[in-house]
Amino acid sequence: MATYQISRDGYYGTFGGAYVPEILYKTVEDLRRSYLPILESEEFQSQYHQLLADYVGRPSPLYYANRMSERYGCRLYLKREDLNHTGAHKINNAIGQILLAQRLGKKRIIAETGAGQHGVATATVCALMGMPCRVYMGALDVERQHSNVQRMRMLGAEVFPVESGNKTLKDATNEAIRDWCCHPSDTFYVIGSTVGPHPYPDLVARLQSVISQEIRCQLQEKEGRPWPDTLMACVGGGSNAAGTIYHYINDARVRIVLAEAGGMGVETQQTAASLNVGTVGILHGSKIMVMQTDDGQIQEPYSISAGLDYPGTGPLHCHLFQSGRAEVLPVNDDEALSAAFELTRLEGIIPALESSHALALLPKIKFRPDEVVVLTVSGRGDKDLETYLRHME
Ligand SMILES: *Cc1c(COP(=O)(O)O)cnc(C)c1O
Repeated sequence: MATYQISRDGYYGTFGGAYVPEILYKTVEDLRRSYLPILESEEFQSQYHQLLADYVGRPSPLYYANRMSERYGCRLYLKREDLNHTGAHKINNAIGQILLAQRLGKKRIIAETGAGQHGVATATVCALMGMPCRVYMGALDVERQHSNVQRMRMLGAEVFPVESGNKTLKDATNEAIRDWCCHPSDTFYVIGSTVGPHPYPDLVARLQSVISQEIRCQLQEKEGRPWPDTLMACVGGGSNAAGTIYHYINDARVRIVLAEAGGMGVETQQTAASLNVGTVGILHGSKIMVMQTDDGQIQEPYSISAGLDYPGTGPLHCHLFQSGRAEVLPVNDDEALSAAFELTRLEGIIPALESSHALALLPKIKFRPDEVVVLTVSGRGDKDLETYLRHME
């Protein structure tokens, strides 16, 4: 039987692994040895789920979208991660990793952020736990994402602008790794998606798997069976998609359709569709599909959505794509924008630009009238209002 679970040495098929500098070897190895026993302990589980319930507001609703269902001729449910505290799914992961960091005796938290969503989630949990937090962010992103920078500063985090390279996410990640190399024993690096060296992709997928765990119970209640026919989500690094599909990966009854950012189109240079246009390479400690030039230089990605604007995709999704278990379709900027306006006008929900990419899958797929579709709305659109209004039809 095909397996989509991670192997003992940290691979999904041929993707993944832990390609880290010598100086981080012990830190990553300690994490690898301890993460499962800690995550599976009753004490961790009880504190984690208590916080998810009382602080994040989980379970997030599974909402039957009546007018959208009529439009697309299926039974469409939206998994409402947009209703979480801080406005997206990223808080599920930040809470879990910081609880883990405390149990490993770490005193200081670092993170990298592009749009600032992961930075805000991490800064939020650090405020909650009274831990010092430094967030690396490309200097260009600091300028572009001013309101998230202000939120992080209000939360007490130190935002560190990175002036090297293109001054965006990739450079912020390099700088965070440099910091980690200098302080491996007292610092925990909170990674925001299913990327990075093993065990991070598996750790993040497990922490986000609360999404599919809830979908099972909610579908059982609403449809009388725990599985959907089709699951849909957007993929940047892959964490909200991993959480959405986690408990269904080996269930062949469930079709998985994912959206990656096409930008201006996969045939142009202005894209972030790393599964559709990338090739195998090593990025941020892991063997994955990367957008790169012939001589292995990372190609600067482009998407209207900052959260999907990453030159690679996590190893789980590379494997799902390569093995055919998941369909991964590119969605262009203009398609995502239309989908956002459609959801807003039909259901009164303003989605994050990232989530709009998942919504834009709907017109691309043919459904049976009784088909049960669950689509994850990974975040809310408050942060994207200016972009939306600039493109208002
Ligand atoms: C960061 C982000 C994403 C992309 O990250 P994944 O790890 O692929 O989920 C998607 N949606 C929102 C709202 C985000 O903030």
